Amino acid sequence: LTDPRSQALCLALEGAGHVALFVGGCVRNSLLGARVTDLDLTTDARPEQVIAIADAAGFRCVPTGIDHGTVTVIVKGLVHEVTTFRRDVETDGRHARVAFTASVAEDAARRDFTMNALYADREGCVIDPLGGLADLTQRRLRFVGDPAARIAEDYLRILRFFRFHAWYGDPDAGLDPEGLAACAAGLDGIARLSRERIGAEMRKLLSAPDPAPAVASMAASGVLAAVLPGADPTALPILVHGETKYPRDWIVRLASLGPTEAQDALRLSRAEARHLDILRTEVGGTRRAGELAYRLGPTIALDVIVLREAMLQIKEPLGWQDDLFYGATARFPLRAADLMPRFTGPALGAALKEREDRWIASGFRLDRAALMQ
Ligand code: ATP
Ligand code: MG
Repeated sequence: LTDPRSQALCLALEGAGHVALFVGGCVRNSLLGARVTDLDLTTDARPEQVIAIADAAGFRCVPTGIDHGTVTVIVKGLVHEVTTFRRDVETDGRHARVAFTASVAEDAARRDFTMNALYADREGCVIDPLGGLADLTQRRLRFVGDPAARIAEDYLRILRFFRFHAWYGDPDAGLDPEGLAACAAGLDGIARLSRERIGAEMRKLLSAPDPAPAVASMAASGVLAAVLPGADPTALPILVHGETKYPRDWIVRLASLGPTEAQDALRLSRAEARHLDILRTEVGGTRRAGELAYRLGPTIALDVIVLREAMLQIKEPLGWQDDLFYGATARFPLRAADLMPRFTGPALGAALKEREDRWIASGFRLDRAALMQ
């Protein structure tokens, strides 16, 4: 938040007689000493005033969500989302109709959790209308206002509850009982959400350093089954433990939940769906580290090994790291031309494949001469 470019933007808004405050994740993460991913600012200036002020200061503006009061302001390559203070006028479980306000307290009241309703001015002075700082210090995720009412306004907050707990909650203390009960009571509303929004939250949840306790709570409260029917959370903690040496992508954690309709339910990208499919096939298969690495690359080979150990308690034989390395770097020494004219047509392909299989089974040791015979 001390970046001179953010400071310049705050100064420009203040110079025009407005309030400019950092809000949400960037304040929360700065206070925790965690990485700040996006910069959100709030102001009492109306969107058209923000644009005029930013234009005059020579910053680039994109009216990203002008109806919702958001203007993207780019200062020498640094992106800020500047949103006018808002209050909710009407909500339907998915969307909100908003009105602008001049009050920070009203703006805070429409945010989801107290630790996400922290504000800071450019000098680092924190404004905390709802006691979010105390909750953040105790790593306690608390809804702003009545949890059941806030969930009924936007059912995505159920998933956000588990997501933020996974990242910033106290794993030993567990979840706020009142919030948890409201999530369990409101889970029918999840079906009304778009799968894109659900997918985005699940991706962030499963990318947390250790999502296992949060996912276990999701399962116990019925929320996991509402999002991903058939998901089984039991292998996830073992996987996360095994990852201490080999950190894996979130999709591997998703695969550990067993067979689910994740591709559809979470709107996975084509590449993600393919990755998940391969993992599911290979986990139950017999290919060892070397062959996996040769055929699918070292990343997927490692995914499969870590997953097998977590899901099936199958350990890869000693020395597998070397095998994986050989497999990833090995080049099959024969070409089709080497077997001609002895073989032609479909027989040529079959002969080549048979030799490649033998070569893999030999641990990539058979050389050209041996394979030619
Ligand atoms: P991160 O970007 O690190 O995931 P964040 O806190 O910035 O965390 P965002 O989803 O980017 O989370 O939302 C920014 C802020 O907007 C939140 O901190 C919160 O104050 C508010 N917010 C976002 N989504 C909702 C929602 N569904 N209901 C209420 N407030 C929300
Ligand atoms: Mg954010």
